[in-house]
Amino acid sequence: MIHLSYIFVTFANVMEQLKEKYERFKEWQKKPYEVRPLSTNEHTCATCHTQFQGNYCPRCGQSATIGRYSFKTAFLLFLDVWGLGNRGMFRSIRDLILRPGYMIRDYLNGMQMAYFPPFKMFFLLIALNVLVESGFNVKMQNIITKSKESIFNDLEKAQQDIKTIQMKATHAELKDTIKINGKRHIIEKAPNDDNSITIDGKKKDLTFIKIIKRITDWMVNNETLVQLFWLLLLSGPLYIFFRHNKKIPDVRYSEFFVSMVYITNMMTIYDIISGFFLPGQTITAFIASLATFIPLKQLYGYSYLRTVLKVIGAIILLISAICLLAILIAILAGLILDL
Ligand SMILES: [Zn+2]
Repeated sequence: MIHLSYIFVTFANVMEQLKEKYERFKEWQKKPYEVRPLSTNEHTCATCHTQFQGNYCPRCGQSATIGRYSFKTAFLLFLDVWGLGNRGMFRSIRDLILRPGYMIRDYLNGMQMAYFPPFKMFFLLIALNVLVESGFNVKMQNIITKSKESIFNDLEKAQQDIKTIQMKATHAELKDTIKINGKRHIIEKAPNDDNSITIDGKKKDLTFIKIIKRITDWMVNNETLVQLFWLLLLSGPLYIFFRHNKKIPDVRYSEFFVSMVYITNMMTIYDIISGFFLPGQTITAFIASLATFIPLKQLYGYSYLRTVLKVIGAIILLISAICLLAILIAILAGLILDL
């Protein structure tokens, strides 16, 4: 019995300590970054020999604490080639993992020198993610070609159909037949008109198909911009649901969008880490998207339940808007193609 009570007491102690640690962690999360105090020592600048007090030379901007070359300074200079060596890239990554919402609020409140700029970070992280997905991972596996193969196969098929029509169209100046989905159709083409053909006596415009093909090609080749576009699209309805929060009253759309860019950066960091160690796992991407609730809760101060409900509401609103737009486009396309 003594042993049992001993185990119980130890367990209670450990729990108590863990709780204390967690409380301290929560305190740390909310505390903004503190810039180190201004040095009061007298310095002589190594570059321009100006005597000064402070952390940087007021004349040429050189750091007062510059010492001899170490691996750390060499590494930072190496990163500086890509614009990574300054403005707290590492602090931004750490804070986006450990205190994302509080960090974003600090940034929006004006602590801009403490953190890596959001859009620059966005493009750099996506470039790094592409690198990891294209083979820079523990398995040396190229995920991009693998996952895109199926999309490309579908696209290829559709493009093949279009090509057959176009090829037949250029050769068939007189009446000819083509096979689409097992059915034979009579097709005609005017000699000087590349943008339309006549199928079964009905004139069809090829420009629309060409435009769609060009758009899909462009989307496959410009993933970063497509992702930014989605972000822009989703942040609209999300803004409607998060606008009237207590933590940042009257948050502007531009500020909200910046917060969304940082949240996407957080997700990309998770994607990079999981893509490096577990290439090809889709479950990790799902978990990373679930993690977006953490910064939204920390930043705008709603409970987890309300945060989740608001995000669901925004997604429903966006889907409805897209459906409405798709119906409109279908009607317009029907009018143009005369289907
Ligand atoms: Zn100087």
